[in-house]
Amino acid sequence: SSSLKKQQSPPKKTAPPKKTAPTSEASGSSDPSVTKKDNVSDETAQLKDALEDEIIEQLRGVDKTAAKQIFSEIVVHGDEVHWDDIAGLESAKSALKEAVVYPFLRPDLFRGLREPVRGMLLFGPPGTGKTMLARAVATESRSTFFSISASSLTSKYLGESEKLVRALFAVAKKLSPSIVFVDEIDSLMGSRNNDGENESSRRIKNEFLVQWSSLSNAAAGNESGDEEEDERVLVLAATNLPWSIDEAARRRFVRRQYIPLPESQTRSVQFTKLLANQKHTLTEQDLLELLDLTEGYSGSDVTSLAKDAAMGPLRELGDKLLFTPRDQIRPITLQDFKNSLNYIKPSVSQEGLEQYEEWAVKFGSSG
Ligand code: ADP
Repeated sequence: SSSLKKQQSPPKKTAPPKKTAPTSEASGSSDPSVTKKDNVSDETAQLKDALEDEIIEQLRGVDKTAAKQIFSEIVVHGDEVHWDDIAGLESAKSALKEAVVYPFLRPDLFRGLREPVRGMLLFGPPGTGKTMLARAVATESRSTFFSISASSLTSKYLGESEKLVRALFAVAKKLSPSIVFVDEIDSLMGSRNNDGENESSRRIKNEFLVQWSSLSNAAAGNESGDEEEDERVLVLAATNLPWSIDEAARRRFVRRQYIPLPESQTRSVQFTKLLANQKHTLTEQDLLELLDLTEGYSGSDVTSLAKDAAMGPLRELGDKLLFTPRDQIRPITLQDFKNSLNYIKPSVSQEGLEQYEEWAVKFGSSG
C-alpha cells in the first residue's frame, strides 16, 4: 500500500549508503542539507546502524550475518565520481545514461517495451575507466551502489558465499534503486567447467544467476504498472577478460559495452586535466608530441605517466628538496615526460588489443 511506501521513504533519503548528493546534471536541483554530511557523521552513523538493523529484520529467508556483512563491506560510501571526471568515452557514457541513469531517474518513462536492461557489461583493457564509469553511474543515478569484487565473493567458506549472494540481492532490492557492481566478473562467471571448476564456485555462480533471474521475473510480472513491486536493481559488471565469461552469463548481459583505449583527443583532455593545477611549460606543440608518444596508453597509464613526470622537478633536487621553497621548484617540462616514458610503458600490447577488438565485433553492443 502507499502508506507503506511512504514510511519507507524518509529513511531511504537519509540512509548513508544512499547516494543522494543532488549534484547530477539531470536534476539541476541542490539540497545543501544532504551534502553537508561531515557535520552530522556521528548522528548519521547511529541512524545508519538502526536503519540497517531494521532493514535486516524485514528481510525474509536471508541470513542475518550475511546481510550485515553486505552492509558493512559492500555498500560504498566513498568519493563520488561524476561524468566530467572521466575523460572521453562519450559513447559509453551515453549508453550508460540511456540504459541505467535515465530509467533510474524516470522510471515512469521506461516501462513495457522500454523496460530497462537488468545487466550491463563493461569490457576492455585494464585501466580504461570501467570502474570509474560504474561509480559515475551510481552517483548520477542516485542509487545505492554495491561494489563487490568477484574474488571476494568466491573466497568465502563453503556455503557462506551463497548466503552472501542471496543477501546481496535481498538488500539491493530493499534499498532500490540499486546497482550491483561486480568487478572481475570473469572470475565469478568463468567457463571453467572443463578444467576443474570446483563445486563451490559452480554453486556460487548458479546462485548468482538464480538471484539475478528473479529480478527480471519480478520486472516482467510488473508491466501492469504496479509501482509497489518496482525493484530497480541492475547488475553492472566489468571485465578485462570478456572471453572467459561463460555463455549463459554472457547472454544475460544484454548490453555489452566496449571500453577501448583512449584516443588521442581523450588523452589530451586527460593530460590537460592532470596538469591543470601544476606549474608546467608544455605548449600546444609539446602536447601534440606527447599525444603521439602515448599512442596505445590506457587511462591509468596516462595517469601513472603524468604522476611520474610531475616528480621530475623534485627528483633532481635530491635532499635539497627539503630546503627549497615551493615557488622555486621548476615547472614540469616535456623532457620530464620523455624521461618517464622510458620506463612507464603501455600496459596493453598490440596483440592484446586485437583480441578485445575481435570480441567487441562478435559480442559487443554497438555504440
Ligand atoms: P578499469 O576499471 O577499466 O581497470 P579504472 O576505472 O579503475 O580502470 O581506472 C584506473 C585509473 O585510471 C583511474 O583511477 C583514473 O585515474 C585513470 N583513468 C582511466 N581511464 C580514465 C578516463 N577515461 N578519464 C580519467 N581517468 C582515467
